[in-house]
Amino acid sequence: MRPRGSLVLCYHAVSPTWEHRLSIHPDLLVRQVRALSRFWRVHATFDDAFRSAATVFPALERLGVSVQIFVCTRYARAGAPLSIPELAGDDLAELGTMSWDELREHADRGVQIGSHTVSHSHLIRLSDAELRRELEDSKDEVEAELGRQCRELAYPFGEHDERVRAAARGAGYERAFGLRERAFGLRDREGDGYALPRADLYRRHTVSWALFRALIT
Ligand SMILES: [Zn+2]
Repeated sequence: MRPRGSLVLCYHAVSPTWEHRLSIHPDLLVRQVRALSRFWRVHATFDDAFRSAATVFPALERLGVSVQIFVCTRYARAGAPLSIPELAGDDLAELGTMSWDELREHADRGVQIGSHTVSHSHLIRLSDAELRRELEDSKDEVEAELGRQCRELAYPFGEHDERVRAAARGAGYERAFGLRERAFGLRDREGDGYALPRADLYRRHTVSWALFRALIT
């Protein structure tokens, strides 16, 4: 069957051993992507820039799949573990994120780098000024560190509303991604590119489930 369009996937951490809701076994990820690539042109995105994600990049390259990392700039300064309240008590080694040096290396190999804001806040709860800082400062920092334009944003937790989408546009992003669950009912129906859905997949998702998930995204 010929590919009939593009499909954007969202992954987080990649580990054969870390039994965490945000994690997926590398072999399962590759099997999912290989199966989905038969039907769609797959774009694989990795939120939070977990260092472990890079283990599957060579396999994805071989499958001809484009890869994009969405980075929280505060953590990239030291490659620090993603220490947000939602992940308190989790394995700090597994939560390690990519430093700017690592992100530069990936960018040089063709991986796209987008913003996941500065600090991974719940954007819909922020004041206008805080929201602007999260969106603009992270974009500026990605561009300064990598020496290339940062055109795309992934909303932390996939959360966005009309005010957040307008702020993303105002900050100069060309497109912004949510998640399928969060984007439900907001399915970029205006076609403005600031509520793009992704299928987020985790270790509990079999290959057939991933196919089903992709069909409803
Ligand atoms: Zn995230």
